[in-house]
Amino acid sequence: MSSEATGRAVVTGASSGIGAATARRLSATGFAVTLGARRLERLEALAKDLGSGTQTLRLDVTDEASVTAFAAAVPSCEVLVCNAGGALGLEPVTEISEDYWRQMWEANVMGVVRCARAFLPQLTASGNGRIVVVTSVAGHQIYINGGGYTAAKHAAAVVTDTLRLELLGKPVRVTEIAPGMVETEFSLVRFAGDEERATNTYKGMTPLTADNVAEAIVWAVTRPTNVTIARIDLFSRAQGSARDVYREPSS
Ligand code: NAP
Repeated sequence: MSSEATGRAVVTGASSGIGAATARRLSATGFAVTLGARRLERLEALAKDLGSGTQTLRLDVTDEASVTAFAAAVPSCEVLVCNAGGALGLEPVTEISEDYWRQMWEANVMGVVRCARAFLPQLTASGNGRIVVVTSVAGHQIYINGGGYTAAKHAAAVVTDTLRLELLGKPVRVTEIAPGMVETEFSLVRFAGDEERATNTYKGMTPLTADNVAEAIVWAVTRPTNVTIARIDLFSRAQGSARDVYREPSS
């Protein structure tokens, strides 16, 4: 019944934040790891710290040809962590950038769909496949000015639940990881490199670390084979919902 940490784990968006931390933990737990992201040089730097079976491959989850080539270059896959994604901008629905919304949909929703489709044969052939999708609290709750990201993550959560149903009867378990605020490059990307705005996101509160989320992912994929962890919601102690965050008054 045990689900041992053997075989290969594929992590999308492994060049930063939650993906990089997850790759580190999966490797330390005993998995051979394949790292995918657009910034190959970052993956190569990370791979130097990981086990000998580590593979680094350029991947753009918004590009079907890139996902197909990526999957074809991976020899086997027992665990697929669909983590690549993020937010762009923070604007009212009536003032949005359509380009941002399309990019968020392509990365956070279609990226998951493309990767799950491309890796399903390997996951099934492994006899003990696991798909983990990193959604967000934004996949279940909304907040003002967050419509593009929350809509995309809600869709990613729905796709994940649908996938779990559609794969019943196959040896593939599907897990959703839905974190609240995590301090990574997420806010820097969201605010187009504005460091002050990114730093202010976490002002007066202690967010989750990428490693807190990685720990939950590794726990989920190492449960006995008869156990599916359907979803994990993770908050830092300072956060109670997508909108409720306790911040220490500034001194
Ligand atoms: P991050 O530090 O910005 O990392 C995002 C990762 O996604 C990077 O490795 C990036 O790599 C990759 N990525 C983005 N677009 C991609 C694409 N088109 N193709 C391939 N890789 C792509 O942010 P993070 O917080 O670790 O985010 C990881 C996931 O957690 C995202 O899905 C995010 O929505 C979710 N999440 C984050 C938080 C948070 O507060 N930080 C909370 C809940 C959920 P390249 O740029 O090198 O391609």
